[in-house]
Amino acid sequence: MTFKRRNGGRNKHGRGHVRYIRCSNCAKCCPKDKAIKRFQVRNIVEQAAIRDVQEACVHDGYVLPKLYAKVHHCVSCAIHAHIVRVRSREKRRDRSPPERFRRRLIYLSSVIFRRIGPLAPALVLVALLVLLPLLLRHQTLLARSLLTLGL
Ligand SMILES: [Zn+2]
Repeated sequence: MTFKRRNGGRNKHGRGHVRYIRCSNCAKCCPKDKAIKRFQVRNIVEQAAIRDVQEACVHDGYVLPKLYAKVHHCVSCAIHAHIVRVRSREKRRDRSPPERFRRRLIYLSSVIFRRIGPLAPALVLVALLVLLPLLLRHQTLLARSLLTLGL
């Protein structure tokens, strides 16, 4: 019979039986090696309300706690929630691990940008002031080395 994936979408590796877990979303029984597992770290307060809560907070510099939850999804739920996607025959062969920390990087850059947003022009000015002498020095160095080469 034809089959879509050599491992049947599983990670069983010669084990006869694998324990079942219940899907975090729909409680379907799913073998643990087949389930899509994610360790979710979320803020307790949703992104939209974070500022309101922080402004209403009595303590200064209080860091809101986070929610840590290990979630297991059955394949149907993972597809439905776009945690994993159906891939073409060729792309299914791509075994590279999913890109990590990309979301966090984007989030961090957005946070940094928001922090320095109003200061951005000043920062650019400072950067230019610092970089210009360096560039100039490099230019003289370059010119000198070119001259020596020419000589
Ligand atoms: Zn499910």
